[in-house]
Amino acid sequence: MSSPLDYIIVGQGLVGTWMSYYAQKAGKSFIVINDPTIPSSTAVASGVINPVTGRRIVQTWMIDTLLPNAVNAYKELGKDLNKTLIKASPVVLLHPSLQMKESFEYRLTHENVYLSTNNSSDFEAFFKTPFGTGQIDSSYWIDLNSMLTAWKTRLIEQHQLVEDHFDTNDVVIVKEHVQWKSYSAKQIIFCDGNNSMHNTYFKALPFAPNKGEALIVKIEGLSNQFIYKNNVSIVPWKEDLFWVGSNYEWEFKDALPSIAFKEKMIQALDSFLKVPYTIVDHISGIRPANTERRPFVGVHPAYPSLAICNGMGTKGCSLAPYFSKQLIDYLGNGKAIDPEADIQRFKSILKIE
Ligand SMILES: Cc1cc2nc3c(=O)[nH]c(=O)nc-3n(C[C@H](O)[C@H](O)[C@H](O)COP(=O)(O)OP(=O)(O)OC[C@H]3O[C@@H](n4cnc5c(N)ncnc54)[C@H](O)[C@@H]3O)c2cc1C
Repeated sequence: MSSPLDYIIVGQGLVGTWMSYYAQKAGKSFIVINDPTIPSSTAVASGVINPVTGRRIVQTWMIDTLLPNAVNAYKELGKDLNKTLIKASPVVLLHPSLQMKESFEYRLTHENVYLSTNNSSDFEAFFKTPFGTGQIDSSYWIDLNSMLTAWKTRLIEQHQLVEDHFDTNDVVIVKEHVQWKSYSAKQIIFCDGNNSMHNTYFKALPFAPNKGEALIVKIEGLSNQFIYKNNVSIVPWKEDLFWVGSNYEWEFKDALPSIAFKEKMIQALDSFLKVPYTIVDHISGIRPANTERRPFVGVHPAYPSLAICNGMGTKGCSLAPYFSKQLIDYLGNGKAIDPEADIQRFKSILKIE
């Protein structure tokens, strides 16, 4: 019998892509199992890394560490794949109300790192700006579609991608390795997004899936060097198209695009866009979010051959490269995982089946 692989990686979304990239860099042997019929959150994401969040425009968790890490990581992977995967894209804030304008002005003069002023007149040909504009710097756009496709091609070339459905019922845990169908490995790493909610071993984690939708629209002449944001975001997509969204639904009956969302976006666009636009698509997906808003990273407390990297929520673009690397470093060298992300914090609920 041939010796086991180091890892079986389940899923090739954003997390599975980074996990397999870092496994490769660490010189590990692995295969990636991906079921293309299962929807991927990454495929519909706008790909924005925004260092601030919310009505109070505060910095996001760990951003001082995550942002420089992400910039280096996407540049490095882009170089490897001969693609530009990351682009600096300032967010132009089209203040939707007096309150938001005041919030911005307050933050500009209090603990400000990422905000700056701009000229509203530069954007008036396209947008109504009754409350003026502002800018978030150090924000980035990631070309997720190119990244997934190029990495998939790489895996296929290296005979490391198996397009199949992974069912945890087919997993056999033997003393020193795990078996799945004809493959054996020292570890299985679950990077299967929302599917982990149904995973025999990890389903007790506090997942809280969140639905989001977007319209893909054509807006002639609008610069794709910026991301535009008031109550909705307009983000460069492919070629001359823009991604317009989103919503955050905690309760939903299905993952499909809804008429209500489409109508809401049309109403929003009509209220602040001065130029015509054409809707070319309407997409939707489920964010693998959780009640704690912190990732799930690490090995199962009772089954050390089973690992997970999940729960990226709304921030997959910045979290995935950082925590995938942490998990590979932990599995390879025992380097500690950030305790706020380590699933050891759920030791009491991750019981032995
Ligand atoms: C509308 C929307 C907008 C978003 N915008 C942003 C944004 O601007 N910035 C940001 O940082 N994040 C954004 N996100 C969140 C981001 O998409 C996620 O955090 C991230 O993509 C999660 O990646 P993942 O690899 O964990 O999951 P996924 O991308 O869902 O990947 C999971 C993979 O596993 C595969 N799979 C699942 N089950 C199985 C199985 N049983 N067998 C084999 N394969 C399986 C799936 O086919 C898929 O390829 C957005 C999400 C949505 C829905």
